[in-house]
Amino acid sequence: MKIGVLALQGAVAEHLSMMERAGAEAVPVKRTDELADLDGLIIPGGESTTIGKLIRTYGFTEPLRSFSQERRPIFGTCAGLIILAKEIAGQADTHLGLMDIRAARNAFGRQRESFETDLAVKGIDDPIRAVFIRAPLIEQVGEGVEVLATHREDIVAAREEHLLAASFHPELTEDHRLHVYFADMVRQYRA
Ligand code: GLN
Repeated sequence: MKIGVLALQGAVAEHLSMMERAGAEAVPVKRTDELADLDGLIIPGGESTTIGKLIRTYGFTEPLRSFSQERRPIFGTCAGLIILAKEIAGQADTHLGLMDIRAARNAFGRQRESFETDLAVKGIDDPIRAVFIRAPLIEQVGEGVEVLATHREDIVAAREEHLLAASFHPELTEDHRLHVYFADMVRQYRA
């Protein structure tokens, strides 16, 4: 099983090592032809405006939409969640527009720009450690979307079939169980 990490900007190296720890081969992806033999892809955190611009500059928009149409799983974390969203609160433009969620950027307010917490995630036995950095939240989900985690009242992780999104950075902790969850998803869709 081979999983790519979109390496245009953001927390790439951490995802690569987490994915390896979760038992998959992990490679950075800088060119569209590198998508060909992947079973799944992670879009990392960083700055969604920058990642979105680089996706367009390097011609990734259509190849990534096809990737998703072929039901190859994609996991967006933080900025990656915004890249996946079909709707972004307060702005007309979206990026890939693949997942039926409305993302609200920088949604936790100034005093809570970054924080860490233990989070109960559906499908994972015990709470996982989650790091939030100028994180988006999911304001609304469509019918086919399963909410996997909430922080207070806010949705911070969700899944729609082969698409997985988390507001936080699961790669910045020692806890790789969400990467194991994604690896299981990829295995399922590959079969
Ligand atoms: N605030 C960033 C954005 O809007 C996301 C932050 C992150 O990925 N840590 O793109």
